[in-house]
Amino acid sequence: MNDLSQNIIGYDLWHLKLPVTSRRDHGIGSVEGACEVVMLRLTSEDGTQGFGEASPWSVFTGTPEATFAALDRYIRPLVLGARVGDRSAIMARAACAVAHCTEAKAALETALLDLAGRISGIPVWSLLGGRCRSTTPLSCSIANPDFSQDIDLLARLREDGVRIVKLKTGFKDHAFDIMRLEYLAQNCPEFSVRVDYNQGLSIEEAPTRVRDVARFNPDFIEQPVRAHHFGMMAKLRQMTDVPLLADESVFGPEDMERAARESICDGVSVKIMKSGGLTRGQTVARIAAAHGLTAYGGDMFEAGLAHLAGTHMIAATPEITLGCEFYQASYFLKEDILEEPFRIQNGQVCVPETPGLGGRPEMAKLNHYAVAKAVSE
Ligand SMILES: [Mg+2]
Repeated sequence: MNDLSQNIIGYDLWHLKLPVTSRRDHGIGSVEGACEVVMLRLTSEDGTQGFGEASPWSVFTGTPEATFAALDRYIRPLVLGARVGDRSAIMARAACAVAHCTEAKAALETALLDLAGRISGIPVWSLLGGRCRSTTPLSCSIANPDFSQDIDLLARLREDGVRIVKLKTGFKDHAFDIMRLEYLAQNCPEFSVRVDYNQGLSIEEAPTRVRDVARFNPDFIEQPVRAHHFGMMAKLRQMTDVPLLADESVFGPEDMERAARESICDGVSVKIMKSGGLTRGQTVARIAAAHGLTAYGGDMFEAGLAHLAGTHMIAATPEITLGCEFYQASYFLKEDILEEPFRIQNGQVCVPETPGLGGRPEMAKLNHYAVAKAVSE
């Protein structure tokens, strides 16, 4: 039986703790020591396997424990025994079965797409509407509280052909942000620079600080204030000529519609972990484009499997024009979980051509880094 009418008969989970090379500070919180992801494996009757990754961050989307419980207790019964080809029906049932938990739903849709793609012998991007690009420019984040370590990272990025960096701001003082912007302007003219506050500014300090940072003419300034401060986002957008991007303010299509209606941004960060899957991420980008707004492919603290899912989504979504930030597997994790490394060439993420996601986790690594699992064998 080699078709999409077969049933899903295996459903396995791993909660992983993956060691990282450095501390990273963002406006809303820090990551130190390790980042945590949840891996889902689906198996069909003919033994084909599809994988999906959930990459939660407790201060941003949710906790790994909640993600694991959503997948293990609430979503599992909807998936076991369902037909591989009934992806839309399964996703609709998952949306009703558990509120929020967008990372769990992203992992589920990724695994269903990977499974269907492997059974059909086609890449995931072909299941999402077909390919519009074969590479995507990579942006790497500068977020180390010890800037000397980031100066070393910049040298490595330059050598690797990466030409976009995103400076994480608003986690220390304003002088530290201005010092790093001046350094980049003077020493790294070949990089285009983006700025991301991750909600780090209060509404009192935001207007002056955003105006100061706009003098450096970055590509855009992302999410200066808290997610729910739509009014201040709209005010800041009016105040400066530098494009303002929404990240934490926009999770799914419903938020995007409101963001466009209230004119809070010039563009949006599309993340499958926020939108609750790849197709909902595509919808966010299309609503943005319909309102004349741009989009880029953001991510959370992810391993390579989530990067692959995001790469397929961007490959099939012409409205995402500003590149991607799938850098963690190559520049942040001590060791990624994929069998073959996530491919970046000359600063461009390469879109896989092989069936499914075009990559899978190494089983030994899943078992090595697991702090909890629900595996049937
Ligand atoms: Mg952001």
